[in-house]
Amino acid sequence: MVGRLSDKTAIVTGAGSGIGRATAIRFAEEGAVVIASGLSEGLEETADLCRAKGAVALAVVADVSRSGSGEVILDAANNVSRCPNVLVNNVGIAGTTAVYDTTDEEFDRIFDINLKSVLRISRPFLLLCRSQEAPGSIINISSVQGILGFQNNASYAATKAGVIGLSRQMAHDCAAFNVRVNVVAPGIIEPPRTEARLRDPAFRKFSVQSTPLGRAGRADEVAAACLFLASDEASFITGQVLAVDGGASATVFRS
Ligand code: NAD
Repeated sequence: MVGRLSDKTAIVTGAGSGIGRATAIRFAEEGAVVIASGLSEGLEETADLCRAKGAVALAVVADVSRSGSGEVILDAANNVSRCPNVLVNNVGIAGTTAVYDTTDEEFDRIFDINLKSVLRISRPFLLLCRSQEAPGSIINISSVQGILGFQNNASYAATKAGVIGLSRQMAHDCAAFNVRVNVVAPGIIEPPRTEARLRDPAFRKFSVQSTPLGRAGRADEVAAACLFLASDEASFITGQVLAVDGGASATVFRS
């Protein structure tokens, strides 16, 4: 298959649902070998959906909060590819508490899964790219909440801002061996994750009102941004944050 990623092997974490699954499938459509990683739920189904697009795909169960999970994913990828070229650090979990109700334990848990995991998974990927002298592209999924404040989500917002800071640093450190590192920052994206919240008429009204394009986004629209940054079309882009948010981060409020 000839596509925009036909010479690439791409790892996507959190690929069992939502944005991760949509990204894995989009990459498969463009000819990438796909390593779909995540917790077990939905993972084999994602790999099957990638294979249905004609791609070689592997499901690799790995909990990114575990030390050594990056090596587990890279070892498995080694079975189908010499050196992966694309890594999408997509795993993220939401918090629900205001800063004064946030416990150390909640902060540590969300920090570990949303931010420390980016380092944990990227490190072996980067060491491999450097030793193989293979160019690469890392896409870290942040959020508009890494750019703007929002109620009752202190730990989440802090980790998503951290993803942006870490990514800029990674872009500097890895440019010497031609690995680009960029961030995709989604706004409110349609289910599954936001299903319950979007069923609430007040939240749906707020999400529409706070978004100039007047609607929630779709996972495939985030996947399209990841595809661009993963591809050679983005060969001179590194250290950047691409908001996929219908303009939400570009406006104070909308009447
Ligand atoms: P989702 O819950 O549908 O998908 C997250 C996936 O990560 C799930 O498949 C889950 O099993 C997996 N996962 C969770 N913990 C894991 C762990 N410890 N190890 C490995 N896998 C794990 O969420 P989504 O909406 O698709 O979100 C994907 C990313 O996009 C997240 O980083 C999220 O913060 C970000 N984001 C989402 C939205 C939105 O509105 N949906 C908005 C902004 C940013």
